[in-house]
Amino acid sequence: MRNCIFCKIIAGEIPSVKLYEDDLVYAFMDIAPITFGHTLVIPKEHHTSVATIPEATAGRMFLVGSRLGVAMKRGLAADGFNLHLSDGTVAGQVVMHAHLHVVPRWTDDGFHWNWRQLKYENEAAREELKKKMLEYFRLTKDASEAEEPEA
Ligand code: 5GP
Ligand code: ZN
Repeated sequence: MRNCIFCKIIAGEIPSVKLYEDDLVYAFMDIAPITFGHTLVIPKEHHTSVATIPEATAGRMFLVGSRLGVAMKRGLAADGFNLHLSDGTVAGQVVMHAHLHVVPRWTDDGFHWNWRQLKYENEAAREELKKKMLEYFRLTKDASEAEEPEA
């Protein structure tokens, strides 16, 4: 896709520090890492949202991300790793070519997810949300089913 920074990286038009490439995915080091070693795994085909990525590619992204996480533990003596994906601007997605973050973690790395824990007011409130989500949940391989609803 024209004007997509990650498509340009895949095409070699913008330099990147590549860790891995196959027929479906490309992995390279993040230019502004959360921790040192922070890597991105992206589909070679342009998709804005992870929701439209075909199953084989989505599966490969997760597999490569997990294996890179293991490589970070063994090679960088990381104590663990985060796999993170922001889908949509409100979720923090800045580059609109879907990407999986692989972030090596050390006990003393000084980084904390800004995680909070709410409580459902009651069971009925929780059930209502469950119903609303399941109304639209489809395990389909047809990407058109996964596209964003019309505004
Ligand atoms: P997002 O916030 O969209 O989930 O993550 C985008 C990521 O892409 C950020 O972590 C940012 O540092 C990284 N990034 C943006 N532009 C480039 C680039 O040109 N090269 C590399 N290697 N990473 C980039
Ligand atoms: Zn792209």
